[in-house]
Amino acid sequence: MKPELIDKLKKIKLFLFDVDGILTDGKIIWDSNNNEFLRTYHIRDGYGLRLLIEGGYKVGIISGGDSKNVRKRFEILGAHYMYLGKLDKRESYLDAQKKAGVNDSETLYMGDELFDTPLLNKAGFSATVADTTDEVKSYVDYITTKHGGHGAVREVIDHFRNAVDLKANIKDFE
Ligand SMILES: [Mg+2]
Repeated sequence: MKPELIDKLKKIKLFLFDVDGILTDGKIIWDSNNNEFLRTYHIRDGYGLRLLIEGGYKVGIISGGDSKNVRKRFEILGAHYMYLGKLDKRESYLDAQKKAGVNDSETLYMGDELFDTPLLNKAGFSATVADTTDEVKSYVDYITTKHGGHGAVREVIDHFRNAVDLKANIKDFE
């Protein structure tokens, strides 16, 4: 990663993520028993989010979709802010910044669709995934090597952890 991008990463205090295509592979399956769409998540992305939260950073999701399974996943992980069923994401972005008490240069946003581009333009550090469109890729600071739902979020978090030297609290045998 370029030194100027590492400098941008070092300022981040609030991490906001789109869900579909970023924290998932973008696929949805209709669950006719519960009348909602099901999604799958990568466990390493989840642990990356936990490391940020335990490190004292603020984490939020902003999704156009809303379902019990999305809500549950991010409740379990302890996300500070959840904006679900939001088609205009700008309002959610500003609300999260206000609650976290941070500005644009302290905000990271990761998204993969055209309606994410206003946020990708505004955030101090913006990222998207390898498997999105070239159009969306043209808006961001960083494009992951991993695909959405396959550890792309963890890839960005690990770049951040390296930039600020955020370690996992792992105890070895005494
Ligand atoms: Mg998306």
